[in-house]
Amino acid sequence: MVNLNSIKAELQRMRCAEHNQAAKIRVAGDTLHFECCCEAFKTKLDSKLKTLMANAVKDSIDKEFKRIFK
Ligand SMILES: [Zn+2]
Repeated sequence: MVNLNSIKAELQRMRCAEHNQAAKIRVAGDTLHFECCCEAFKTKLDSKLKTLMANAVKDSIDKEFKRIFK
């Protein structure tokens, strides 16, 4: 199970390089939605989200394997 709240917290620490604003982020089902100042920052958040999600999924699969095959 992916912890979206920790991913959310991570993304909320990011600020737009141009406008120095953080995004408003909310959890929506199994993903996150953000409202932010510009498209460039949104693109950045999107790719960061994908990276964090991929890592979180990998971690939870690793944990699951360890649990099953201990
Ligand atoms: Zn911006």
